This record gives sequence, C-alpha cells and structure tokens, in this order.
Amino acid sequence: MSTELQVVAAEAATCVRCGLAETRTQVVFGVGDPHADLLFVGEGPGADEDRLGEPFVGRSGKLLDQLVWEEMGLTRDRFYIANVVKCRPPDNRDPRPEEIEACRPWLEQQLALIAPRVVVTVGNFATRTLLQTKDGITKVRGRSYPFGAAVLIPTFHPAAILRGGAQQMAQMRADLVRAKQALAATPVDRSPDPVPTASPAPEDDDIRLFD
Ligand code: URA
Repeated sequence: MSTELQVVAAEAATCVRCGLAETRTQVVFGVGDPHADLLFVGEGPGADEDRLGEPFVGRSGKLLDQLVWEEMGLTRDRFYIANVVKCRPPDNRDPRPEEIEACRPWLEQQLALIAPRVVVTVGNFATRTLLQTKDGITKVRGRSYPFGAAVLIPTFHPAAILRGGAQQMAQMRADLVRAKQALAATPVDRSPDPVPTASPAPEDDDIRLFD
C-alpha cells in the first residue's frame, strides 16, 4: 500500500462512525495495487471477509477472481478492491443508508489516492452509491458512465450469479470485457519520471586543455 493509503487504512481501522463498529471483528479496508488503474467496489464484508480482513475472499470473491481472470487476464495484485461499507453488517443484512453515508469518506479517500481510470461497481449498493442513482443494476449496466477523470462500469454482484443466472453471468462477462476495453482505450503512463542520468564524462581525448 502506498504510504498515504496506509495512513488512511490505519485511521479507518479504529473507525466508530456508525453502529457496525460494535459488531464487526475488524475493518475490511481494501486490498490490491494502491496505484491500480482498475478499482472494484463491492457492497460490504461478509463473514469470511470480517474474519480474514480482506474483501471478497468468500464464494463471491472466488467467482469474481475467476471472471476477472478469464475476461481481463488480471490477478488481484493488478487491481484494487474495496467495499462501500468497510464493516460487516450483522447477519449479512443490507447496509443501511446512514451506514453507507458514514463510510463514504473512506471510499472517497480511496478513490482520490488510488485515482483509478476505471471503476467497476459490483452490485446495486456500490452502483447506486457511486452513480447517485436509485435505478437498479439491471437497468444501468451494459454501458459506461463518466466518473470524474475515470469511467464507471456497473456490473452484477457475483452473489447474484451464484444464485443462478446464466444470462447474468454472460452479462457480467461482457461488463468485464467493457472494463478491459476502457483500460486499453486511454492508457496513461504512470511510470515514475525517468531518473535523470548524468551526461557521460568526457573521454580524456575530448578534454582539450589548450585550444
Ligand atoms: N460481497 C461484497 O460485496 N464484498 C465483499 O467483500 C464480499 C462479499
């Protein structure tokens, strides 16, 4: 993690901005490349994530990893993954509006510091939160949206696919291809500036002491 993101993660680790702090095991801040061009945003940690401290490590996460690998050729170290709420809602209930609002500054800091070019929102909660819409995922998916300097691509939550939707699975694959194309469309050179090299020292023969 970059230093700034580490500082924010350390602050978030002790967050008590909403009631989820009372029931969580730990804050699940996010994981991956802190300078990634690609950011996935999910809903909130489940039981596995709450126990292990990492987003999307349960069945949904395994499916997400599989689809991202198959459609985009990327492993987890190549992107960043976070959730709208950083603490597990008890019994995996939906996060409440006040919990999403309380947690929003953490997500906003992640967006600002990671500065991804492509944001994939996974499921209704992430999509509604970031697109500021009340529309559901089925209606809004299938295209990309301007999102500051980035583009936002909404897709289904893998849990919906696990509940059994061959059509949704195909659509999620198509969304991931769209994200891959968006990444390829406007590549930005984020490599560090080249280290300035000293001009080569003149060869002895080049040093003319007397003209
Ligand atoms: N579902 C989510 O939305 N996020 C996780 O981290 C795990 C499951």
